[in-house]
Parts: sequence; structure tokens; C-alpha cells
Amino acid sequence: MMRSHLGVPPEGRGAAGRALLAFLLAAWATNALAADFSSCLRELHREAVANGITPQVFDTAMAGVEPDQSVLDAMDSQPEFVTPIWDYMAGLVDEQRIADGRAKLAEWAAVLAEAEQRFGVDRHVLLAVWGVETDYGKVRGGRPLVRSLATVSCFGERQRFFRGEFVAALHIIQDGDIRPEVLVGSWAGAFGQTQFMPSSFQRFAVDFDGDGRRDIVGSVADALGSTANYLKRVGWVSGESWGYEVRLPPDYRGPSGRRSRQALAQWRRLGVKRVNGAALSGGGPAALLLPAGAGGPAFMVFKNFDAIHAYNAAESYVLAIAHLSDRLRGAGPFQTAWPTDDPGLSRAERREVQQRLLERGFDVGVVDGAIGPRTRAAIEAFQTSVGLPVDGRAGARVLKALKDAATPR
Ligand code: CA
Repeated sequence: MMRSHLGVPPEGRGAAGRALLAFLLAAWATNALAADFSSCLRELHREAVANGITPQVFDTAMAGVEPDQSVLDAMDSQPEFVTPIWDYMAGLVDEQRIADGRAKLAEWAAVLAEAEQRFGVDRHVLLAVWGVETDYGKVRGGRPLVRSLATVSCFGERQRFFRGEFVAALHIIQDGDIRPEVLVGSWAGAFGQTQFMPSSFQRFAVDFDGDGRRDIVGSVADALGSTANYLKRVGWVSGESWGYEVRLPPDYRGPSGRRSRQALAQWRRLGVKRVNGAALSGGGPAALLLPAGAGGPAFMVFKNFDAIHAYNAAESYVLAIAHLSDRLRGAGPFQTAWPTDDPGLSRAERREVQQRLLERGFDVGVVDGAIGPRTRAAIEAFQTSVGLPVDGRAGARVLKALKDAATPR
């Protein structure tokens, strides 16, 4: 066998060579990224100035800004783990978020009453948007908006869309509505108490506390008022509900989906009833929503469900906002169970899963109730160790197994 004069076995030299190659490629990629970015910034400068941004505002906002690789990673990441609807719902509408929301209902009663009066949007829905989007302002994302938006404006897909958002973010700064140092948010550019995109801010934000600035970051009143204005402008019908849970006839095979709207009379003919057995009620055409198929909870949804969908175009989130609003109003949980023998967990239960894994020596990182790749890996290791099916999911079955394993025999 050939050996190098340095005495490094070929496989070792190969590994060192591969590491060097990886390093050089990474360095080249970083340089290429930086070169592309500076030429892209010149384009963005032209585009911003052509759209009313002063060169001074642009230069100040972009001084020293470099592309954010973590934003590109977030944009590219294909979720390898498909979250079941019952996990979304269990985490987004749990006892803690309901209790916190009821406290906010009292704390912000005057602002909510004014928003209801001026925009006609139900206060429980406004609170539910706030609760689901940012946990009532607690989880807002920490990435500087102009950096994230400049990054996605220069790299990846949908650059045209993001350039519009980038220029809109500069307008927010130029107009003096929000100070640049607190203009932070998600990788995609959603920001503030109720997570507006900059272009939505331009269209819908209002100065609801009357201090002369539209500040949906620092002012809860501005955020709630702006959210009410948004929902009204995208078609909220005052005094109507988003919808309600229904019961299907056995072996239902009829139409479903948010776009398959029909008159209530047609749904009645198909045998759909309110979950308490009463006849369908409400105004206008409605759609039948079956988020987990005909074997799970079913919902009749009206125009206001679509208004929430215009705000956040993910059906699971819309249902969470809708359901949380009902819970804040005093309604109970859905009557039909999700079609699973392994239900989702509240955030308190997720923390318990993490705490119990930690106690058994599995590395979950921080006990925060957020189930990321590290917690999922720990769950997989635990599942392997006790001979459970390995799926890495934080569900009721894993929590029970952890409790059982802790019981002295
Ligand atoms: Ca204000």
C-alpha cells in the first residue's frame, strides 16, 4: 500500500484533503456571496431611491450590513418533520395562552372596545391574532429587518416580492414610525406585536394611541388597532362569526375545502349539522373544512375565516386564531377528537417532556417548550432506549412513557 512520506495513511490524507477543500469552498462561497451582495446593494439603492427613499436613509440603514446566511438557511430549510394539525392546535391553543389572553382582555379592555367600535372587529379575534402570532408580544423574532430583507432580496427565490418589502421597510424608517434598532422580526420580514409584513404595514397600520407614530412594535394599542383595520379592509363582516364546528353524516363523501363554498341550504341537504345537532345557521355561503379528513373535527367557515386567512395564509394558523378567539370568549374545546391515538401536547406538557428527558440524561438543550431538532433527537434516543416506535415526536404517548419510566418498580 502506498504511504505518503509524511506517514499519513491515504484515508487520513483524504480526510484532511476533503476538510481543506470544504474550507476553500466555504471561503469562496463567502467571498462570492459578499461580491454578489455589494453589486445587488447598488441595484437596491437605485430601486429604493426611485421609490422615494433618500440616499441618506438608505446609506445609514445599510451601513456595514452583510448578508445573513442564517436567513438563507431558514428560507431553504425543507421541514423534514411534518407537524400534524393536532400538534399545532395543542401548542397554539393551550390553557396558558387562554389564561394569558383573558388577562390581556382585562388589561386592554378600553383599547379593544375602541377598536371594536371603530373597525367592527371582535375583540377576542384581535387578541387571538396577537396570542398566536407572538404569544402576546413575547416572541417577535430578533433579526434586523433591513438585513434579512436585503438578504432575501439578493438571493434565493421571490426576489422581486422581497425587494418590495425591503423598500417598504425603509419607508417605515424614513417616515419615523419605528426606530431602526427595534425594527426586528422573522427571517421573512414579519415584525411587531402582530407580525405585519412591511407592505401590510404601509397599507393597514394606524396610529391608534394618537402619539403621531404608527408603532406596532412598541405600542400594543397601535398593533391591535392596526390588526383591526387590516381585518376590516380584507373583508371582515362586523357581528358575524368565523364559523363553528359541525357534525357530518356517517360516511360523508361530499365536497370540502375552503374554496368550495355553497349556500347553507345545500350543506343542510348534504346532512351537515351543528355539532349540538341543531340546523346550520349564519349568513352567506360557507365552506366545509376538514383539517384532518372526514374522521376528525369538521367546521363550517364563513367570510370572516377568509379575512383571517388574508392575514395569515396558513389554514392551521387561521383555525388556531379562530379557535383561540372562541376559547377567550368562554367556549370549550372542539367536541370531536382529532383522529389520532397520540394527541398533541400543550406547551406546559412539552416542557415536562423536555424536563423528564433531561432528568434521564438526554440532551434537550434549554427546557423551553419549543420542540426543535435537538429535542426531537433526544426523544428518538429515548424511544429507542425503551423500545417505542421511533418518530421523534413530542406527543401524549412519549409523555406517558416518560412518566411510566420514572415510576419506581
Ligand atoms: Ca402611535
